[in-house]
Amino acid sequence: MKGDKPMAAYDPNNIFAKILRGELPTYKVYEDDKALAFLDIMPRAPGHTLVLPKSAARNLLDVAPDDLAHVAKVVQKVAQAATKIFGADGVTVQQFNEKAGGQVVFHLHVHVIPRKDGVALKPPASEKAAPEALAEHAEKMKAAIAAL
Ligand code: 5GP
Repeated sequence: MKGDKPMAAYDPNNIFAKILRGELPTYKVYEDDKALAFLDIMPRAPGHTLVLPKSAARNLLDVAPDDLAHVAKVVQKVAQAATKIFGADGVTVQQFNEKAGGQVVFHLHVHVIPRKDGVALKPPASEKAAPEALAEHAEKMKAAIAAL
């Protein structure tokens, strides 16, 4: 078809694939057989979490619909728990597709960012959070999700 562009193939060496295989450490907040959620290492606000399908999907354009639906369920859990833990007034959910869409890491992920009234987001990937803060937030989030 005129104008069709082939999408790049899934790269099994992307950083989130390595996290999913347990080859790199991360601050997990939730895991089941089809999805993993962990803290963004450069949070745009405290509690900034990423939710991924375990299947090898590059982004929204190639993910299996059932895997996407499962990710949405986990996004809701994470948003509910983060609202409690961080006393959020709201939650921003973002998801980027391909370079032109703002995607930097090419394994599908959804950003869940707790928000406070009047507090702007930090710029993307601007500052690594302190490991102690990430560890503490991950433990609290894990407990809050388990209690939902
Ligand atoms: P996106 O692809 O949605 O534009 O952004 C990728 C996100 O992954 C960014 O928010 C960035 O801070 C986060 N990120 C990049 N490298 C790592 C990493 O090694 N560990 C974790 N937990 N997050 C990462």
